[in-house]
Amino acid sequence: MKAIRGATTIEADCKEQIKERVGELLNKIKVSNLLEEEEIVCILFSNTKDINTYYPAKAAREAGFFSCALYSSLEPQIEGSLSLCIRVMVLAEIERKPVHIYLHEAKSLRKDITENINIALDGPAGSGKSTVSKIIAKKLDILYLDTGAMYRACALKCLENAIDCKDEKNVSNIIESIDIKVEYSNGNQQTILDGKDVSETIRRPEISMLASTVSSHFCVRNKMVELQRKIANGVSCILDGRDIGTNVLPDARFKFYLTASPEVRAHRRMEENNKKGYNQDFETLLEEIKKRDFQDKNRKFAPLRKADDAIEIDSSEMSIEQVVTFIEKTIQEKI
Ligand code: C5P
Repeated sequence: MKAIRGATTIEADCKEQIKERVGELLNKIKVSNLLEEEEIVCILFSNTKDINTYYPAKAAREAGFFSCALYSSLEPQIEGSLSLCIRVMVLAEIERKPVHIYLHEAKSLRKDITENINIALDGPAGSGKSTVSKIIAKKLDILYLDTGAMYRACALKCLENAIDCKDEKNVSNIIESIDIKVEYSNGNQQTILDGKDVSETIRRPEISMLASTVSSHFCVRNKMVELQRKIANGVSCILDGRDIGTNVLPDARFKFYLTASPEVRAHRRMEENNKKGYNQDFETLLEEIKKRDFQDKNRKFAPLRKADDAIEIDSSEMSIEQVVTFIEKTIQEKI
């Protein structure tokens, strides 16, 4: 059994509006939750004291909800609470995750589900951005976009075509016709380059430095940022990268800048790479991370930088779970 929540408001206390808004609310709950009539066990309403002209339960019966038990009750008058509001709880014999519905002024009661949440998570290589983002995306049931994967795909394209990533002119020519798509399979991002899934190939260690070099060109950034904004448009999402809070989504509601000492990051990267079968020694990785930090922070266009309104998290002495808990808590406190 699952409890599906919902609420709506009316503009004036009149029978016709109560009937219309209750019908609208219940039908949206039914459609969004793919409910069959016989799965609904009961529907419980509560309404604010300023609604007196009709019972929401009666309106529900008239809206076609015949076979379940219905009940209406009155809420106490709490100062500052929403007026002319009807709340509902539908108990249904379902296993699937309930979709709660909040309409009209009642949307303000649950901003966490009625408003899009955009999270920008920036930081240097190896700070744990992608691991943290994946967990947060799963917990909040929102889209995750690893923007670094796109720059890696650009680097791979140059490599495959024997183009020097520093050579802006040739890079610009090839980027003009590049076809990068992002798809999702079981919630996991897949990066498609010219129709081919390159999700694994772009993780090869030699691609990291090339991605940093190729991403410094304006022509590359321009094209990738446009694509990133298109993917993020109108949905709740978490994007990780270097310039999300400063450039891609400057209006993101939540911005974090995740960092850690170069030594800790190199160590993490080494463990990660070892697991994938890429054996690189610590000193080489540390050197590469420092070089990439320098290049990413000192490029002309959209360099790696903490947005002024981003919260900085130094994860050098924190576990992934601690970082996730901190981010979750910050988000919950704000919505
Ligand atoms: O995050 P990841 O290591 O996959 O990124 C590879 C490179 O892509 C980075 O070193 C950085 O230069 C570039 N990048 C960027 N802007 C982003 C994401 C990644 O310039 N938003």
